[in-house]
Amino acid sequence: MGSLKIENIRKSFGHVDVLKGINLEVKDGEFVIFVGPSGCGKSTLLRVIAGLEDATSGDILIDGKKVNNTPPAKRGIAMVFQTYALYPHLSVRDNMGLGLKQAGKPAEEIKERTRIASAMLSLDDYLERRPAELSGGQRQRVAIGRAIVREPQLFLFDEPLSNLDAALRVNTRLEIARLHRQLKATMIYVTHDQVEAMTLADKIVVLNQGRIEQVGSPMELYNSPQTIFVAGFIGSPQ
Ligand code: ADP
Ligand code: MG
Repeated sequence: MGSLKIENIRKSFGHVDVLKGINLEVKDGEFVIFVGPSGCGKSTLLRVIAGLEDATSGDILIDGKKVNNTPPAKRGIAMVFQTYALYPHLSVRDNMGLGLKQAGKPAEEIKERTRIASAMLSLDDYLERRPAELSGGQRQRVAIGRAIVREPQLFLFDEPLSNLDAALRVNTRLEIARLHRQLKATMIYVTHDQVEAMTLADKIVVLNQGRIEQVGSPMELYNSPQTIFVAGFIGSPQ
């Protein structure tokens, strides 16, 4: 289970209105991409969904249940950031298991879930290393592994590939697509990259200045952009 409903979400920082009434439904198991220019509110929207940021108004529902007052750790969500956000002093194994440890899971269960996640991500040989001893691509896989071990119903990715070089971006993108098929979890994924959006998404949400411009499948947006903005962003030339 991992359906999401966003109802009229607004978010202001002081006098700046960053999200101006966002409505969106994401079905269980869907892969949804958020695209839009820098500063349009993509990260803020992910943070509101995750509960890392309170909305100014509006509701977030997960599997039909309002979670506005549910703390992030209890929402069944895991977030993967552009910057990996790993602890430098902890091994790969401990980085992946830390959230479970904090949640009070028994050591055996942490070990088993870490084993499964590291096998999925080809990290078995790196479990005792520190992040500084890994490549950028491996670090991002650890960050994804740390999300997987929590067995979330909903994954949020905020530009997870933008610090990787071109070849690694392709590999990691394919890996994320494979994980989506394997885990059957709902994934919401922010990117600047049109190829990522077109190849990964069941549904693309185009954001502009705190509003949704258009929602549709990659082909719908490509073939029938409703605005010049959408056409410029992902549609065919008009
Ligand atoms: P995006 O991820 O689409 O690039 P963000 O969601 O990061 O955009 O930011 C949207 C706008 O909100 C930007 O103008 C940014 O400066 C502003 N903003 C984001 N977080 C904060 C914050 N904690 N305090 C004040 N302004 C913020
Ligand atoms: Mg951002």
